[in-house]
Amino acid sequence: MGHLVDFYCRHCRYEEKDVGVGQGRAPTPFLRLFSCPNCHSFGSCWIEDGKTPRCSWCYHDAVVLVADDAAGLPCPKCGEPAKLTHRSGDTWE
Ligand SMILES: [Zn+2]
Ligand SMILES: [Zn+2]
Repeated sequence: MGHLVDFYCRHCRYEEKDVGVGQGRAPTPFLRLFSCPNCHSFGSCWIEDGKTPRCSWCYHDAVVLVADDAAGLPCPKCGEPAKLTHRSGDTWE
């Protein structure tokens, strides 16, 4: 089962809630967290065998993948450290 993640940057107040990550019932495809340097967004995208992960907002194909359990990352909008809250009790499958 995957879980949900909330992203929050206290510097520019960019926020994304209920972002799914991990795998559901099947091992593939699964969701990975990313930040997109093209549209400056954070989200999660499907990873499939043999396919390039793409931004789920602008469909750009050079997203920066983020570890499933990362505690934070540089905010894609302002570049300051932003926080990830892993809601391990909120699962999806
Ligand atoms: Zn920010
Ligand atoms: Zn994008």
